[in-house]
Amino acid sequence: MTDARVTDAARAAALDAADPLAAHRDRFVGAETPLVYFDGNSLGRPLRATADRLAGFVGGEWGGRLIRGWDEGWMDLPLTVGDRIGAALVGAAPGQALVGDSTTVLLYKLARAAVDHQQRVDPTRTEIVVGDDDFPTDRYLAESIAAERGMRLRWLAMDQAGGVDADQLRAAVGPETALVLLSHVAYRSAYLTDGAALTAVAHDAGAMVLWDLSHSVGSVPVDLDGWGADLAVGCSYKYLNGGPGAPAFGYVAARHHDTLTQPVTGWIGHADPFAMGPGYTPATGVRRFLSGTPPVLGMLAMQDMLDLLEEVGIAAVRTKSLALTAYAVELADAWLAPLGATVASPRDPELRGGHVTVHHPRMREVTAALWARDVIPDYRDPGGLRLGLSPLSTSFAEVHAGLEAVRAELAARA
Ligand SMILES: *Cc1c(COP(=O)(O)O)cnc(C)c1O
Repeated sequence: MTDARVTDAARAAALDAADPLAAHRDRFVGAETPLVYFDGNSLGRPLRATADRLAGFVGGEWGGRLIRGWDEGWMDLPLTVGDRIGAALVGAAPGQALVGDSTTVLLYKLARAAVDHQQRVDPTRTEIVVGDDDFPTDRYLAESIAAERGMRLRWLAMDQAGGVDADQLRAAVGPETALVLLSHVAYRSAYLTDGAALTAVAHDAGAMVLWDLSHSVGSVPVDLDGWGADLAVGCSYKYLNGGPGAPAFGYVAARHHDTLTQPVTGWIGHADPFAMGPGYTPATGVRRFLSGTPPVLGMLAMQDMLDLLEEVGIAAVRTKSLALTAYAVELADAWLAPLGATVASPRDPELRGGHVTVHHPRMREVTAALWARDVIPDYRDPGGLRLGLSPLSTSFAEVHAGLEAVRAELAARA
């Protein structure tokens, strides 16, 4: 594997030449510059089409139609965009997905709805199961919901270079488990867990599962209906390129619509918002999980990425993602391992999501130096350099140039 050919720039050029999705990269703003972007798993690049959509919206729908826009589609956007994400990316039949709130707020709403329901049915279900190295928002919410409800947390010990598997979950769930909160792709290691298997393990114990899809949606195929999932939430500003702070999407399986009640009971989730009457009566269907006025501006950019993802198909996106991460692992082995760095992501492609993390004690300084030279990965303590390889906007040549820069910065500190 340390054959010189692995690291040849000509190899990157050949991989790009053979990549059926290569041409789509030019649709992204900045693709023409030498900047290397390795953080599409944190903030996706904008599509060029988005500049036109935003300008058109200000001049047309917003500036021209004004408040009539609410009756001309804006009010339904949370559900229509949700259905597109559901169909193209996460395996959800229509009527089960929505867009709105931040990921954090939507996770809170759905987790609270789930534990409230579970405790109504069986007050002895007093535990929430969550990974001890899961994304902070997920852990903090589990803690605060447990405190609000007088529940306990059961922490799953997570390996920083791995994630939670079915056997580990099986050992943690039981008759006291109300809810399992899990990331499909671990934000640190990119460990890709088996959604169907872990959902089944939780269900066998009578627990509900809330999947955090923030690092999967748009990069890894997800099959929520096929898994028999209960609930899911994901980010739209990562692999869905919705722009900074774009609203989250959520999924509630149809079988739960009539039994779950979410805690943020705003007027938009009411059965008849414009009656403006006394008392809260939830809407039917997934609409009851909405709370306030739909974030219409925030849903514009993601529609351009959805256009592209629908055109390409998530299976082809995953194929390219696997090729990109495999190439990054090869280059890390050839160039960075001799300098003391280690790959802290699964080597088995079946267990790897869309990014690759490389550990070295000096990666914090290396990341700062890389940013200064227009190579943009991100850094996660302790010592983790994350290479987020957004499949449609990242080329093999970019991976080559970026890893070569990491090698140079590490070598300068050896
Ligand atoms: C990015 C991310 C979030 C972000 O939540 P926000 O409310 O959008 O800040 C939550 N969970 C996971 C697993 C993430 O990767």
